[in-house]
Amino acid sequence: MYDPLYHQSPGCGQDYPNSYWAQVSGSSPKNLGALQTDLEVDVAIIGAGYTGMSCALHLAEEHGIKATLLEANQSAWGCSGRNAGFILKTSGRKSFSQMANQWGEQAMRATYQEMAEGVERVKGLIARGIDCDMQPAGYLKVAHKPNKLNELRAIAQLQKDMFGYDIDVLSKDDVRQQFMDDRNAHGAIRYTDGFGLNPLKLAWGYQNLATSAGADIYCSTPVLQSRQSSTGFELITPSALVKAKKVVLATNGYTPQGFMPAVNNRYLPVLSQIIVTEPMSEQQLSDSGIKTNQVVMDTRALKYYYRKLPDNRILFGGRGAISGKSAQDPYYANRLLSVLKSSFPALESLNIAYAWSGWICMSLDDIPHIYQNAEQNLFYSMGYCGAGVSFSAQAGKRLADKVAGAQVPNIPLYTSPLPTFPFAPLRRVGQWGYFQYGKIKDKYF
Ligand SMILES: Cc1cc2nc3c(=O)[nH]c(=O)nc-3n(C[C@H](O)[C@H](O)[C@H](O)COP(=O)(O)OP(=O)(O)OC[C@H]3O[C@@H](n4cnc5c(N)ncnc54)[C@H](O)[C@@H]3O)c2cc1C
Repeated sequence: MYDPLYHQSPGCGQDYPNSYWAQVSGSSPKNLGALQTDLEVDVAIIGAGYTGMSCALHLAEEHGIKATLLEANQSAWGCSGRNAGFILKTSGRKSFSQMANQWGEQAMRATYQEMAEGVERVKGLIARGIDCDMQPAGYLKVAHKPNKLNELRAIAQLQKDMFGYDIDVLSKDDVRQQFMDDRNAHGAIRYTDGFGLNPLKLAWGYQNLATSAGADIYCSTPVLQSRQSSTGFELITPSALVKAKKVVLATNGYTPQGFMPAVNNRYLPVLSQIIVTEPMSEQQLSDSGIKTNQVVMDTRALKYYYRKLPDNRILFGGRGAISGKSAQDPYYANRLLSVLKSSFPALESLNIAYAWSGWICMSLDDIPHIYQNAEQNLFYSMGYCGAGVSFSAQAGKRLADKVAGAQVPNIPLYTSPLPTFPFAPLRRVGQWGYFQYGKIKDKYF
């Protein structure tokens, strides 16, 4: 499997992975195919996932600027077509109390506002006619140990006080009787506004909106190399040269090693793994006590998350292999299945129907960065840390604002570059160390 820390290109024209989403979503909207002739454009966007497509859409609709997207494989071939489809009012991994301590209350509140706007933006785009199988709202954050419920209670109180956020606190019995009989759940808090959807259909919906607004999307067109010129950038693709005044890097965790000096050694691609089971029978459904389609995540450092899909399958996710070379090892999918069965012993005979993984993009300081270089001709949005489905819509809009020279909120997300990883060649060793720490923390603390 493509490994961004070792390979220089994500491939060319590769098909979607064999995921549940690729199977149930129908066919992708038309694109212009592989670029065959040289182009001169104002704005080239590299990568056609949520970030790139939201940027193209907002450039066209809010600033009257036409963008040209260059995608190595298929639209939404990266994370955007293979995630779990959880829409949550968050991005990165930094808590709001950490933000308040580091940046002060005003910046923390403005950041919350942007993340909340991300969810509203996704809903607004869906309301324009994207059919993406939205499920009933509700996000359960589950205590994986009894002592974690107190921490969750404190978070709920804090967010209620700070933002007036509507959060229910649920005892172990409440969770089991009202939502799901999860034997690993020791209570939960429930946000009333998170929800699940089909992520690939969402991405294709963005694609339709962006192309209707005038954006051009070329797939099977990897940018193999880029160089700065007197007028901007020259992007070299397999069959054509693209001269662009401005370039937007929307490649996130799929950014190849050494691709652009501006982001070299400033991100860590980490594999996240998903399994989707066979559909549960009526008997299995009733025996498992799963009564909800709401989205669920636990309190572990190495998180597990799950949701019941519209056709009564379970989507279950967690960390994957460390390197692309081991990504397809069935060990990782089977490990998720055994955790699922420890939560729901009644599902002992349930099998995996689909298993796949994708590269999320970690930043050193646990927040996304939407940034531009000093010359104002190179822009990027990276580092959602595995929480980018809703925020990427907002980040794409803010990227578009930056490209057009409009004001954006003055908060660290939009003003600071991705920090460089110290000892960058050893990032994978650091990741392995974090996994060991996480296993001990989750088991004993
Ligand atoms: C298994 C998994 C589950 C997840 N679940 C959730 C979730 O439930 N909720 C949530 O909020 N987030 C989730 N995420 C994260 C979320 O999917 C991402 O944050 C989001 O999709 C990032 O979108 P993007 O457009 O920035 O990048 P991507 O969708 O990754 O797109 C990057 C694109 O760039 C292209 N590219 C790379 N290099 C080049 C090049 N040189 N030339 C041309 N094209 C190039 C790639 O082919 C790729 O299509 C999950 C991620 C994974 C992997």
